[in-house]
Amino acid sequence: MAADASGEAAPDLGKCAICGRPATPEYRPFCTRRCADVDLGRWLRGSYAIPVKPSEDDEENGAIPDEDER
Ligand SMILES: [Zn+2]
Repeated sequence: MAADASGEAAPDLGKCAICGRPATPEYRPFCTRRCADVDLGRWLRGSYAIPVKPSEDDEENGAIPDEDER
């Protein structure tokens, strides 16, 4: 007989890479879409890295607007 104090057997989906909470099957390896979007945003920023050296006096593409989707 298994004595599990937690009482809830969660599947091993790993932990969310963003907040560290248990990941959900729907958004794994993240817990929520919000966290998935955060990671995606980071990844995209990395990919969109300009191949040339960024000019310090040219920041027309300064900030990416946060997508607060609810
Ligand atoms: Zn998370």
